[in-house]
Amino acid sequence: ASKKVVIVGGGTGGATAAKYIRMADPSTEVTLIEANRNYYTCYMSNEVLGGERSLDSIKFGYDGLAKHGVKVVHARVTGIDAKARVVKTDDGGSYNYDRCVVAPGIDFRWDQIEGYDEKVAETIPHAWKAGPQTATLRKQLEDMKDGGTVVLAAPPNPFRCPPGPYERASQIAMYLKQHKPKSKVLIFDPKPKFSKQGLFMGAWKKMYGYGTDNAMIEWHGQQEEAGVVKVNAANKSVVTAFGDEIKADVLNVIPPQKAGAIAFAAGLTNDGGWCPVDLGTFESKIHANIHVLGDASIATGMPKSGYSANSQAKVCAAAIVAMLNGQEPGTPSYINTCYSIAGKDYAFSVAAVYRLADDRSKITSVSGGLTPGDSSPEVFKREVAYAHSWFNNITHDIFG
Ligand code: FAD
Repeated sequence: ASKKVVIVGGGTGGATAAKYIRMADPSTEVTLIEANRNYYTCYMSNEVLGGERSLDSIKFGYDGLAKHGVKVVHARVTGIDAKARVVKTDDGGSYNYDRCVVAPGIDFRWDQIEGYDEKVAETIPHAWKAGPQTATLRKQLEDMKDGGTVVLAAPPNPFRCPPGPYERASQIAMYLKQHKPKSKVLIFDPKPKFSKQGLFMGAWKKMYGYGTDNAMIEWHGQQEEAGVVKVNAANKSVVTAFGDEIKADVLNVIPPQKAGAIAFAAGLTNDGGWCPVDLGTFESKIHANIHVLGDASIATGMPKSGYSANSQAKVCAAAIVAMLNGQEPGTPSYINTCYSIAGKDYAFSVAAVYRLADDRSKITSVSGGLTPGDSSPEVFKREVAYAHSWFNNITHDIFG
């Protein structure tokens, strides 16, 4: 029987699925279609902003996947015909499949913040897809005067990497503390609370004077109607829902998010702008034979993270191999850990192991937890080493 799998998007989720399908069943033909020649991981991109690592250290190519027998195509997917089971690309390519995996990550809701669009984002970066924008934002931080104000507009839920904006603020503060100590980072947030809030605020108190007159980080949340509703690109200021106008020297706007554009073009999204899937196989609830995983999917119970996408890809790969070989997919378990590096020798994490709920309605955490807030300095320091080790392992797992 024919066993052709086409994978749309060679990021964390798609690349993992490609490799694991080939490893589980080398008789399956796997074609991975990815728009870019290199992939920059978002994980550790905040360390690039803090000046702790180079952009090159988060850049990965596709030779490793080719060694596993994955056919890698660099093109942009423009459409998926779910009835005919064909994927079309912008270079005129056409790829038949028995099963298709769609892992395009996120796109932005450009209509939500007045004055902020794709064009403005070239100079006022979101840097929420790593790569050139990461370099732009880093350069702006380097060029900023001592005593400058960095404004970070955080996004509403749901979004890619719930602790990410707060790790970013921490990394920027770490850089400023060393090089421009009169400067500040102000976070404007439409949410009333955020991921690992206690741990972040504990770290900010210890390292950045949080809560004092000399605080290097301020967080303004929904309680103050602090979500950013408008950007004035000309004078680099933002306007909050409350009506306050805040002037920045460096401005980082992370807009509201939705599934990657191809998920919309292929009719895989619901009214909320994300893709409903069966949580045991990641097969779309809208189109049979198409699986959606990673940030674009509604993986109820798991955060939108790289480690989640990697874990979901393995579950999906095993299910696809079973289905293509006429077997029942097994009962999956899933895993996620998310490290946040908040300063020099100071990181913490949240970890969970999950299983599928009996009624398949959610992915349920069965064990896990957070780094205790009252840990010793040694523990917070060790978490930095764990974070770097996790990065080396997962990038090897995906691209090696
Ligand atoms: P992506 O990795 O974004 O991959 C999508 C791929 O699809 C891209 O390569 C894109 O080019 C391609 N693509 C899209 N559309 C098309 C098309 N039409 N045709 C061809 N190709 C297409 N996660 C963690 O686990 N730990 C962390 O510490 C962590 N830190 C983060 C820090 C920051 C600042 C950010 C922004 C994110 C962080 N994340 C972290 C989250 C993580 O990066 C994402 O959750 C993860 O990348 C999701 O994987 P994905 O496969 O769904 O999407």
